[in-house]
Amino acid sequence: MESISKGEWKSQMYDEAVAQFDRVAELMNLDHNVWERLRYPQRSLIVTFPYRRDKYSDVETLFGYRVQHVLSMGPTKGGIRYATDVNLGEVAALAMLMTWKTSIVGLPFGGAKGGVRVDPHALSLPELQRVTRRFTAEIINFIGPNKDIPAPDMGTNEQTMAWIMDTYSQQVGHSEPAVVTGKPPSLGGSVARREATGRGLVSLIPSAAVHIGLPISGARVVVQGFGNVGRYAAVAAAEIGCSVVAVSDVHGAIYDPKGLEIGKVVRWVDEHGLLDDYPDAEHLSNEELLELPCDILIPAAIAGVIHKDNAEKIKARIVAEGANGPTTMEADQILDDKGVFLIPDVLANSGGVTVSYFEWVQDLQNYFWSENETVARLREIMNKAFDEVLSISIREEVDMRTAALIKGIRRVAEAKLVRGVYP
Ligand code: NAD
Repeated sequence: MESISKGEWKSQMYDEAVAQFDRVAELMNLDHNVWERLRYPQRSLIVTFPYRRDKYSDVETLFGYRVQHVLSMGPTKGGIRYATDVNLGEVAALAMLMTWKTSIVGLPFGGAKGGVRVDPHALSLPELQRVTRRFTAEIINFIGPNKDIPAPDMGTNEQTMAWIMDTYSQQVGHSEPAVVTGKPPSLGGSVARREATGRGLVSLIPSAAVHIGLPISGARVVVQGFGNVGRYAAVAAAEIGCSVVAVSDVHGAIYDPKGLEIGKVVRWVDEHGLLDDYPDAEHLSNEELLELPCDILIPAAIAGVIHKDNAEKIKARIVAEGANGPTTMEADQILDDKGVFLIPDVLANSGGVTVSYFEWVQDLQNYFWSENETVARLREIMNKAFDEVLSISIREEVDMRTAALIKGIRRVAEAKLVRGVYP
């Protein structure tokens, strides 16, 4: 595919997302018409809107975005983030990644993403509520249970989703819980949504361990990040008999080669917020944490932490990506050459969107599942996707990231070809 301008979406993140897609499309010998079509999002909405600060005379203007990458698979699905660096290119790149992620696990969605360029920590709760309600009003014709279903992302949470759901419901004149996922359970949110990403990721580890001949009992696990993903991944890893030897947060890591008592770490964080003064463990930096001797490394914090300068020093045999994009493209190659088995983000952290899908289905039917049913269905979907990605990786002699993208892109390309071009 010849290099063409990325136009309106041009940014480092979007260029990288397209470059990764191009690489896999070429390898798959993808139909050229579909290839070019999938390089661009179908719909991109930019809105500017005012909101009133708590000081009544102060009104500020904000930028907001919603991008829908592919509309051929069903409604679109993806988070809304509030951060100061949100821009159209970033949102478009993340929408494309959502298309591949939902397709890899076989969900009936295309990818979307949205955001508001604002620092949510600098706003009071009433201000956040006004921003959220006005942003929802601006994108209201774009979203809906059968159109596009937002969810939380960086800087947004269950409360944000509740405000979006309420604003949308007020406009249409009846309660419409299925317009967003990641809601509080009292509004039709799913049980086990909070734990879904970490638990889903860990449900793949036994199969990965069998594949490389690693005994799971006592396998040493290191987790970077102790938030929504990292904390539940650490708990789930301990539950399946692994020894979690180190975890970290933004300030640093704690390490005990004999294994941390995860229940105690969870209680500490609930009480103190950070790991800073946690007793009974060695304190290390986040950089040192990544290079610790271990069997399984779960980067579950931020992007780009495994890069060309530290990839050679990673000692884990399995890297399971909880965060989005924790491994750079150069590091990917180094890990592959070292024989590290990598479970890529688009597969490893797809538990969140999978349980979001369950939430949407339950809201549409007004029929709610138990926690056991939810977790069992999550495991079934993720493990099926893992087995299929592993078979592609073996059959086509490609790494797991490439195999996962082949699976995701192939399903979307097939759907687009069979639907044809309108008119
Ligand atoms: P979170 O904010 O709940 O937790 C992030 C954790 O990482 C915190 O413990 C924080 O202290 C730590 N952290 C922040 N900056 C760090 C740094 N520079 N170095 C080390 N640690 C740092 O976020 P989350 O929801 O757990 O998301 C983590 C990652 O997983 C993100 O990349 C996110 O996009 C991705 N992800 C999350 C979900 C989900 O369901 N929450 C789903 C898919 C992907």
